[in-house]
Amino acid sequence: MERRHFDTLVIGSGGGGLRAALQLAQGEANVAVVSKVFPTRSHTVAAQGGMNAALANVVPDNWHWHMYDTVKGSDYLGDQDAIEYMCRAASHLVVELEHAGVPFSRLPNGKIYQRPFGGQSQDFGGDQAARTCAAADRTGHAILHTLYQQNIHAKTHFFDEYFAIDLIRDEEDFILGAVVLNIATGEPLLIEAKTTLLATGGVGQLFRTNTNARINTGDGMAMALRAGIPVQDMEFFQFHPTGIAGKGMLITEGVRGEGGYLVNKDGERFMERYAPHAKDLASRDVVSRAIAIEIREGRGCGPDADHVLLKLEHLGPEVIKKRLPGILDMARTFANVDPIKEPIPVFPTAHYTMGGIPTNRFGQVVMPLEHSAEEAIPGLYAVGECACVSVHGANRLGGNSLLDIVVFGRAAGNHIIEFLKENRYHRPMKDEWVERALSRLARWEQSGEGESVDVLRDELQRTMEHYCGVFRTEEVLAEGVEKVKALAKRLDAVRLRDQSKVFNTARIEALELENLVSLGLATVKSALARQESRGAHSRMDYPDRDDERWMKHSLYFEDGRVEYKPVRTKPMSVDTFPPKPRVY
Ligand SMILES: Cc1cc2nc3c(=O)[nH]c(=O)nc-3n(C[C@H](O)[C@H](O)[C@H](O)COP(=O)(O)OP(=O)(O)OC[C@H]3O[C@@H](n4cnc5c(N)ncnc54)[C@H](O)[C@@H]3O)c2cc1C
Repeated sequence: MERRHFDTLVIGSGGGGLRAALQLAQGEANVAVVSKVFPTRSHTVAAQGGMNAALANVVPDNWHWHMYDTVKGSDYLGDQDAIEYMCRAASHLVVELEHAGVPFSRLPNGKIYQRPFGGQSQDFGGDQAARTCAAADRTGHAILHTLYQQNIHAKTHFFDEYFAIDLIRDEEDFILGAVVLNIATGEPLLIEAKTTLLATGGVGQLFRTNTNARINTGDGMAMALRAGIPVQDMEFFQFHPTGIAGKGMLITEGVRGEGGYLVNKDGERFMERYAPHAKDLASRDVVSRAIAIEIREGRGCGPDADHVLLKLEHLGPEVIKKRLPGILDMARTFANVDPIKEPIPVFPTAHYTMGGIPTNRFGQVVMPLEHSAEEAIPGLYAVGECACVSVHGANRLGGNSLLDIVVFGRAAGNHIIEFLKENRYHRPMKDEWVERALSRLARWEQSGEGESVDVLRDELQRTMEHYCGVFRTEEVLAEGVEKVKALAKRLDAVRLRDQSKVFNTARIEALELENLVSLGLATVKSALARQESRGAHSRMDYPDRDDERWMKHSLYFEDGRVEYKPVRTKPMSVDTFPPKPRVY
């Protein structure tokens, strides 16, 4: 098998992977980026609404208010040291992106435009803030392309359309790189690296109706599980309130930020009842639940009363064309409505993975020890949606994920540079470790005789949607666990698509499905275990948040165990924000 050697292997070329790679390449490290799709097709490209930073260009603002909103938005499950670090770094990193070439929208005075987004306030819970920096409604596109160009300039080495199969771990628990598959040729390649960074994005494909790219199958999280590392807080999956009804594509929160609002079948602006103060700009979990309740109580719109309407006609064609051009396109193409004249039918859709691979704020992947201590796994880092640092806790605020990926991408890059100074040589590689990773590929050399990959994937998505959706109960979740377990068994006999026609992609679909099934189980098991309602995890049988018993992160292991570790409530320099009832 061919082998290559690098200081750092970055798996994933979304904003998280590329921001880290840039820091490393500019720091003279020899860095390789592996991506299963061409880098600028990573899901970051689809981010619409923007990135939060307390620049105070529109209304007064500061990082401490941003921190408060993020802690509150997380329903007090976020780690406050990481949140402080992120909110403090935000303004600097927006300016840095601008200098690197991101064409942010402008105010008439030439400063960066900022729009109001959900869960944002001035002065610790006061008036609505306007904190989200945007490039129209194509912010992720602008950021990803800029980071890619800067990496090309910095001579980062790209392996485009290579699929990472598994990590290599030695006897002392060092991570030594990964085995990847060249999708075009079907040949495996061993990439040996002194440090490996996972930046493989979220697992939105667990649910049938979702806003994610088809490639978001959680490969990095599943690789971590197989290497003996737990995944954290998987029960917290964000449902975005405004997906196009029946289809799932995202209509950015920026629409409500610009002044759009939701109505039910009676034309009532119902969010005024659920969140009298913030109304349509309450946190996403709050708005998604409100929509689900309106529909359940018979106030849905359309012949089947199965959605609500997002009104934005009153904004006028000029604002819509200038600030929301992508939404105009999407609504016309996918919902068959013209938002300049009529409202868009919307319904909550699976959007964002709050959980992921546990890390500290340097991006190091950490393992739990006894007495709440933690230990970093040498040579392994994770950033972005595949990681759980945890700045989003039980519910992410809109605009905080683009921020998360650049802040912690950069932080991990910096930490890796220090690690490389102390660890200058590649560690010995044994064939048996490589064989272990390769065996995963060998398993799919031949097709089984059972159901097809497509059928199983579809069934998994429907199962997750039905048994682990916006509202949950013990009984339904327990049934969900059994269903996913049974699916995992059926995976053994799964039938690949005809390889002579579709070549390698059939094997890759099977590998992705395997990853999805293991994360489906992680999600539904963690959800069953948590007997309270917090953020996106809403248990009808335990409707209240229970700080006494449940102010802790869950850790799910490959063998099915669920353990817990405390929330880091102590910030870096300021006072803690103690838990309060969460009202908007
Ligand atoms: C439609 C949409 C709109 C959004 N809008 C916003 C917004 O306005 N503001 C905001 O803050 N957040 C937004 N988000 C969330 C945010 O965009 C994402 O959380 C973030 O961009 C994730 O970045 P990432 O680098 O972690 O992963 P991604 O951008 O998802 O990249 C993952 C990378 O990993 C690679 N990869 C995965 N598996 C493998 C494998 N096995 N082998 C090789 N490579 C692999 C992929 O090829 C890809 O390059 C939005 C998300 C969606 C879906």
